[in-house]
Amino acid sequence: MERESLEMDVVFVGAGPANLSGALHLARLVNEHNAAVEDGKKEGKSLGEIQIAVIEKGASVGAHILSGAVMDPRGLAELIPDFREQGAPIEAEVNDDHFLYLTKKRAIRSPINPPPLNNHGYYIVSLNRLTAWLGEQCEAAGVNIFPEFPGAEMLFDRNEQVIGVRTGDKGIDKEGKQKANFEPGVDLLAKVTVLGEGVRGSLTKKLIQRLGLDEGREPQVYSLGVKELWELPDDRYPTGRVTHTLGFPSDQWTYGGGWIYGMQNRIVNLGYVTGLDYRDPLIDPHAEFQKFKSHPFIAKLLAGGKMLRYGAKAIAAGGWNAMPQMYSDGVLLVGDSAGFLNAARLKGIHSAIKSGMLAAETIFEALLKEDYSSATLENYERRVKDSWITPELRRYRNFHAAFRHGRWLGMANAGLQYVFGGRAWGIIDRDHQEAGHEAMQKLSAYGYRGDDVSQRYQDFRFDGQLTFNKVTDVYHAAVAHDEDQPAHLHVLDTNICSTRCAEEYGNPCQRFCPAAVYEMVEAGPAANAEGSNGGSRPRRQLQINFSNCVHCKTCDIMDPYQIINWVTPEGGGGPDYKGM
Ligand SMILES: Cc1cc2nc3c(=O)[nH]c(=O)nc-3n(C[C@H](O)[C@H](O)[C@H](O)COP(=O)(O)OP(=O)(O)OC[C@H]3O[C@@H](n4cnc5c(N)ncnc54)[C@H](O)[C@@H]3O)c2cc1C
Repeated sequence: MERESLEMDVVFVGAGPANLSGALHLARLVNEHNAAVEDGKKEGKSLGEIQIAVIEKGASVGAHILSGAVMDPRGLAELIPDFREQGAPIEAEVNDDHFLYLTKKRAIRSPINPPPLNNHGYYIVSLNRLTAWLGEQCEAAGVNIFPEFPGAEMLFDRNEQVIGVRTGDKGIDKEGKQKANFEPGVDLLAKVTVLGEGVRGSLTKKLIQRLGLDEGREPQVYSLGVKELWELPDDRYPTGRVTHTLGFPSDQWTYGGGWIYGMQNRIVNLGYVTGLDYRDPLIDPHAEFQKFKSHPFIAKLLAGGKMLRYGAKAIAAGGWNAMPQMYSDGVLLVGDSAGFLNAARLKGIHSAIKSGMLAAETIFEALLKEDYSSATLENYERRVKDSWITPELRRYRNFHAAFRHGRWLGMANAGLQYVFGGRAWGIIDRDHQEAGHEAMQKLSAYGYRGDDVSQRYQDFRFDGQLTFNKVTDVYHAAVAHDEDQPAHLHVLDTNICSTRCAEEYGNPCQRFCPAAVYEMVEAGPAANAEGSNGGSRPRRQLQINFSNCVHCKTCDIMDPYQIINWVTPEGGGGPDYKGM
């Protein structure tokens, strides 16, 4: 197939805070350098016009961006010191911090806030809006932004140097045939490609495997954040108040907690995080969030209110010890793609911005030296190590791992780590760190009898007012995918779904997916050993409702057999997280 090639200098894959900050900082460094050389204020030669592109799979910048979000302004203040005067969309300055322990019926307020969750002086933002605003700043600085352009494949030369990215084809039908509107993807060639795809990036995952960038590191672990925006009838929850919760509804072996952030115009942003290293195969993170809302304290807060929006997205929680090598020839990893998030603080925006800026400074150095190999790009890691990111992340390097021993030991250990600079005190067995999906136990091992997978939530009902089922919630994520395209969720062996997975785990994809993408449907009577259809139990097979997908990446992470591969769908498809 004939493909167009476009020569850029630098291509940033993903228009999140990390890459937009990187692109903006780089454009400014180049412009300032060229101006100083032309004015005779600096020696050396002008770099000329440097072509910087940012590609984004969403229909617009910010469409796929979902976050809490309470932002530590440190990163943004370095990028744009007068960001408030420049009109950055800020909902509120945090003025009230609460930390609650929830029992089944009660909410007990802690007299002190755990230090990592001290948010005074930070800002409540809609990251969707903030990212769209950063996109505008990039365009004003001369950066080319291409929404609806998913990065589908990395391009390599014969020495394994990354030389760019191929964008996804458009106009392929569900049988894989070209439609009338077919447009082949473009090869975007670049001296440096920056992967800022966010959590569990589809290109990042393949690149890390291909180049062994995670060798000697701990496996990355994840959580899933499920959230809704609610409009309240009155001012009962003030703008600028931040509440974090621990306890109900998570059991003590499941890492989790809730948040409630007061935005403008009586809107509250609330959600629940469930660790994607849970043990009980019947856990459903969406149902955990709905149960969270049914707690008397939360239910009272939301009474008479209206649910406006829904979304879900995974969070990289492994921290410092799980970060891969962040460079190779022709490529850098930034933001959540490299695991820069601080799980103890549930904050990654500030470090994503900073990592993008450090990547930009390294690329600027590479452009001056005209060397795009690891020899120069490895300076990115040195810059990260010399920056404020490193002491922050090192201090919490064992935070998530401590919770593998249950909530109370995890809390105690996290406290000690905080005081003693991140030391794990022997509680973490480094040789046995496991990826999250390996923690899930089989139905029989967890003590479940029979194949009734509704046991965990059998007494819980979605009432359509306070609590919603997945299909209703997905409607509020404004998800749209052209249904006449190949499914972008590749299940490598669907036979396992009907056999081993059904028996061993009761098809947990139906539960861990927060968007009702995976469904086991009846496919006629089961075949008996002789192959005739005389079996008594109906045979069930997997149906993938890919058009519901909110791009949270949980299935790619949590599938116990690791046979689900999330790839980018046609550009523009996915959720629309306006105001989230
Ligand atoms: C529920 C939740 C709550 C959070 N709360 C907070 C908080 O309160 N405070 C805080 O600081 N942080 C919070 N975070 C973390 C924060 O959102 C992230 O750390 C931050 O957004 C990371 O920025 P990023 O640029 O690396 O990635 P992202 O923000 O994820 O952006 C990545 C972008 O790349 C695009 N993309 C991905 N793959 C491709 C591809 N192949 N081709 C083209 N485009 C692609 C995506 O569509 C997306 O637009 C939270 C995260 C979640 C999920």
